Amino acid sequence: MLIDLHCHTTCSDGELTPQQLLQLAEKQNIEVLAITDHDNIQAYAELKQISTTIKIITGVEFSTRWNKIGIHVVGLNFDITAKSIQQAVNYQQNARQQRAKLISQKLEKIGLKNAYAQLINKNPNRQIGRPDFAYLLIEQGICQDFKQAFKKYLGAGKIGDIKSNWLSFTEVIQSITQAGGDAIIAHPLYYNMTNSKLKRLLRDFKQAGGVGLEVINGYQNSDKTTYLCQLCQKYKLKASIGSDFHRMTNYSRLGIDTQILPNTVKQIFA
Ligand code: AMP
Ligand code: MN
Ligand code: MN
Ligand code: MN
Repeated sequence: MLIDLHCHTTCSDGELTPQQLLQLAEKQNIEVLAITDHDNIQAYAELKQISTTIKIITGVEFSTRWNKIGIHVVGLNFDITAKSIQQAVNYQQNARQQRAKLISQKLEKIGLKNAYAQLINKNPNRQIGRPDFAYLLIEQGICQDFKQAFKKYLGAGKIGDIKSNWLSFTEVIQSITQAGGDAIIAHPLYYNMTNSKLKRLLRDFKQAGGVGLEVINGYQNSDKTTYLCQLCQKYKLKASIGSDFHRMTNYSRLGIDTQILPNTVKQIFA
């Protein structure tokens, strides 16, 4: 069975609209889909009127920090009308907007003019993220490609890496849990943590009410999947899987086969 519990649309930093993403998912015979835009649940309002054979479950990817490290927490299967989710999303959207304005100011210094206004003019509803600035830097010839934009200006420690005032780790987890949803640590191997630090993160996560670990994020080496499934067993976490699809490229594909997972783990959505 093909499912996808982590992907993005134009409501955050993705390329396809929610409708286009759904059409792609239908074409690829995906059975269960959660759209997990960064700090944003607008896609679900857009899909409300559309009928589909795919089982759609609610999703979001919250930005937060744990011990000064930027962490992403995916929320799944929550009540979208719950106050805790609505409040969390509003708070995060405001934090993201403030951050985007500051990034824009910083990038003036390297010759990118009025970036924030340009991005808002393009799409007033979008949750602006660093990838949007990356594309603007490329468009205006300041950078050659996405990778370079992050390496020179937007990545950790660079001029456009503004520390944002996100909800705390515990607040993010609670906002999901209080809405009846499941909180999941997204792409646990992307934080460049030592194994012992990652284990500390998982202990704190469990204690705060977290229930899942993303054991597959896009195309990945099976050694990594095996390791993350072992962590699921050790910390009694359920396994979640998703493509983290943002746009059509040669190596990004919507949908992961649930059969890849060993039956030693409990799947968050089986
Ligand atoms: P933001 O949500 O604004 O903090 O931007 C984070 C997003 O930027 C991630 O979800 C990725 O889509 C993308 N991203 C982050 N770091 C990199 C990087 N080093 N290279 C390419 N894309 C990145
Ligand atoms: Mn992204
Ligand atoms: Mn992420
Ligand atoms: Mn993501």
